[in-house]
Amino acid sequence: MTSYPDSYYASSLDREKKYYPNLKDNYNCDICVVGGGFSGLSTAIEAAKKGLKVILLEQNIIGWGASGRNGGQIWNDVSWGIEVIEKKYGIDHAKQLWNISQSAVELIDQRIAEFEIKCDKKNGGINAATSVAKLKEYEKNCEYKLKTFNYDKLEVLDKLQTEKEIGSSVYYGGILDKGAGHLHPLKYVLGLLEAAEYLNVKIFENSCVNKINQLISHCEVLTPTGSVKAKKIAVCCNAYIKGLNLGIESRIMPCATYIVCTEPLNTGLQGAILKNDYCVSDTNFDLNYYRLSQSKRMLFGGVVGYSLRNVERLKKRTKIQLDKVFPSLKSLKVEYIWGGYIALTVNRVPDIGMLNDKIFYAHGFSGHGVALTGIAGKILAESMVTEKTKELEAFEKVKHKKFPGGRLFRMPLLVTISAMQRMMDIFNV
Ligand SMILES: Cc1cc2nc3c(=O)[nH]c(=O)nc-3n(C[C@H](O)[C@H](O)[C@H](O)COP(=O)(O)OP(=O)(O)OC[C@H]3O[C@@H](n4cnc5c(N)ncnc54)[C@H](O)[C@@H]3O)c2cc1C
Repeated sequence: MTSYPDSYYASSLDREKKYYPNLKDNYNCDICVVGGGFSGLSTAIEAAKKGLKVILLEQNIIGWGASGRNGGQIWNDVSWGIEVIEKKYGIDHAKQLWNISQSAVELIDQRIAEFEIKCDKKNGGINAATSVAKLKEYEKNCEYKLKTFNYDKLEVLDKLQTEKEIGSSVYYGGILDKGAGHLHPLKYVLGLLEAAEYLNVKIFENSCVNKINQLISHCEVLTPTGSVKAKKIAVCCNAYIKGLNLGIESRIMPCATYIVCTEPLNTGLQGAILKNDYCVSDTNFDLNYYRLSQSKRMLFGGVVGYSLRNVERLKKRTKIQLDKVFPSLKSLKVEYIWGGYIALTVNRVPDIGMLNDKIFYAHGFSGHGVALTGIAGKILAESMVTEKTKELEAFEKVKHKKFPGGRLFRMPLLVTISAMQRMMDIFNV
């Protein structure tokens, strides 16, 4: 039986996970969802709410992918930055994507309330600047969002205020976003799972889809031990997609990122570090992202690698980063380390769309998926049930390039670019 990686999240669940059977027979349904993370569950929930018969297939167990292991940080916007969207696609398009990203954040609170999900949700996040130039960029961005979208939840923090909020003197300032937040992702994913089951979604685990055949009236989804005949399909495999040959894989680059979790901070440290329980994301290219857990452990993520091997080396690298930001935590023991894959797109905007009138997909959240996956699922479900929505069109308008070099050479290319960017961070360029 597959289990979750040995993470703080898996060890701090407050209930037993229910397990679901492996697909053994042949089934019929309206919508078959492939992938049991935030996006797949969200699609399944929204389609089931509309009265459709939904089957969800997960190759491991629900929440096994990035959704059950991430930093839990909730941010609006897309990784690329909404200003870039405006420059490239115009103000109307930027406004549309901005509103979607805002709804994405709100959807999390709505679902927590609707399905009574207990997932340690907290409000507020800080984007911390690692150089004066980056702080200036943030300040401009803050003004832009107020002027363009009337977004008034941002507050500029100077160096001293940032130091007081975070408990670290390494930053030049920051932006507090009161609309951001954080949660326990595995508790949230299991809450969504319960909601999906309550809405009669039929769930199968350890059921890896290895082929999708598109026929005239329907699609056929095949696993090694069974099949599903569905009117429409949603492919929600994100970075873990492999071998489905749908022509969308080369638009994303799987990229590993790691989180270390310390033992709980003592009460003295708790008063000094992240005293208002905000999450933080800084501006390094290998961005550091961190927050306190409900039990006051430091969850610190950041090091980007290109595989999940060499855990000991990565643990050391992540701990070095943590110690640089918080020298006072040097003596704390690291009790857990785990990693997972995010899916980058070339332009860092999620790739959400339809291949034809039967096959829909959402992936490439580029490390920004805690919020956007939920709304992506809603957009997919609405477009599958009625007709393509304006929101789906807004995502489809953003064109996605393939990563150059094909599957074998994508990785070395990104390693080279990242190494150059890291040097720029070191020299504060
Ligand atoms: C360590 C880490 C930290 C992160 N931190 C943050 C953060 O703080 N904030 C943020 O916004 N984002 C963060 N992210 C990104 C975020 O977690 C993802 O964007 C999001 O979880 C993607 O959800 P998903 O449902 O699309 O994909 P996943 O959760 O990866 O789910 C895809 C599922 O599809 C299944 N699957 C794949 N192929 C098949 C198949 N052939 N058949 C059946 N099932 C299949 C996989 O097993 C997997 O369970 C982080 C990611 C990682 C790894």
